[in-house]
Amino acid sequence: MNYVSTRGGVAPIPFKEAVMMGLARDGGLLLPESFPDVRDRLAAWSKLPYGELAFEVVRLFADDIPEADLREIVRKSYAAFRPVPPAPDQAWTGPEPVPVRPAGPVHLMELFHGPTLAFKDVALQFLGNLFEYVLGESGRELNVVVATSGDTGSAAIHGLRGRKGVRVFVLHPAGRVSPVQELQMTSVLDDNVFNVALGGTFDDAQRIVKTLFSDLPFKDAHRLGAVNSINWARVLAQVVYYFYGAFRTMERTGASEVSFSVPTGNFGDVFAGYVAARMGLPVRRLVVATNENDILARFFSTGVYARGEVVPTLSPSMDIQVASNFERWLFLHAGRDAARVRAWMDGFAATGSIELPRLADGTLDPVLRPGRADTAATLETIRRFHADFGALLDPHAAVGVSAALAAPGAGEPVVCLCTAHPAKFPDAIARATGDASLATHPAVEALKGAPTRKFPLPADAKAVADFVAART
Ligand SMILES: *Cc1c(COP(=O)(O)O)cnc(C)c1O
Repeated sequence: MNYVSTRGGVAPIPFKEAVMMGLARDGGLLLPESFPDVRDRLAAWSKLPYGELAFEVVRLFADDIPEADLREIVRKSYAAFRPVPPAPDQAWTGPEPVPVRPAGPVHLMELFHGPTLAFKDVALQFLGNLFEYVLGESGRELNVVVATSGDTGSAAIHGLRGRKGVRVFVLHPAGRVSPVQELQMTSVLDDNVFNVALGGTFDDAQRIVKTLFSDLPFKDAHRLGAVNSINWARVLAQVVYYFYGAFRTMERTGASEVSFSVPTGNFGDVFAGYVAARMGLPVRRLVVATNENDILARFFSTGVYARGEVVPTLSPSMDIQVASNFERWLFLHAGRDAARVRAWMDGFAATGSIELPRLADGTLDPVLRPGRADTAATLETIRRFHADFGALLDPHAAVGVSAALAAPGAGEPVVCLCTAHPAKFPDAIARATGDASLATHPAVEALKGAPTRKFPLPADAKAVADFVAART
């Protein structure tokens, strides 16, 4: 399987090279040349435990890694999770990293049982093992530079801390990540970890990372690598749980298709679901659920993709206006015509807005549906799911659940992605339920009072480049 850029300027490259390149050298994003059709395998795959399913999915896209090595990479990645016993009606296998449970009108897929209690561990544990494997083969070094709105940074740090050949520079917007998220990052004191507290928004941080990566001499000299969801390996690791969640839900309900609701920021997670659908998983709808930072929800209802101001919300990991993975969807939407993607991206860079025509059915895409939940709806959903169904949702998951319930389906079961453990957001839980003590987790308690280290810098690409250069 080879990879090409959404901007058309990269000759097809194999998986390992695509993973190390991160952002494509022409400024685009890498995608596989085609998506395998797996419809003939769905019945067999539906009987596999998570780790084996992950191996089967990943190997279709990573065919330049020997199978035995890939199996070991996948095994190590999910060994870092706290396995959860299945719900009583699903004791078909042993404890698993990603449980799926019914709660009232929806099914909750819990993606937060990794080391940092957010779904990003699913991909970043895998990526950490993958980097270590590829760097070990080549004897090279990699300096990861990553922007975070909160969860990517801690998951990246926990995926890469102490690994040979890798340094990790994490840029977070100072004061705009939750206290737990900040502690999860800054309490890691390994020599290869650098936390930069940037005076600006997440979009500033993301723009600076893009600037550093598009300076090719700098990128090459300092061997920069990416772990944002611009890295294809992250999206790939997330494709797995759409299969897994659909299988568990179809088994439980007898349905022949499912929908998903996905709390969305950078469009990476929901795009992974889109890939699963393209591979033949029976997905009716993917709800692109946003908070007040709703550029994507507006796009999928109007066709206008127009930048807005970032406003801080209860779900900070979704406080994003410019969603990097959207370009991957644009490329597929354009029938893989890179020239059209370049024209759209240039138009957006110049004016801050582009408009795409609707399809014949009036939508922008047959599968993707807009969803939005504001602060009041988020709090009410947390309150109601706790009171009525005994399910404690974090504010990101609550956005997804609220949007799922507002978007009319065709009676198919809806799987809502629970992207973080509620203990990461105790203030929102307290506001919604009146009881902060509900949101606890031993891993969070253990952080309190831990020594920390961070480096404050202005939101300026030059300052960040100098900081990186001085340490590599
Ligand atoms: C990162 C994150 C999201 C958004 O995921 P994207 O892939 O950026 O769309 C949602 N919820 C949580 C808890 C996150 O950490």
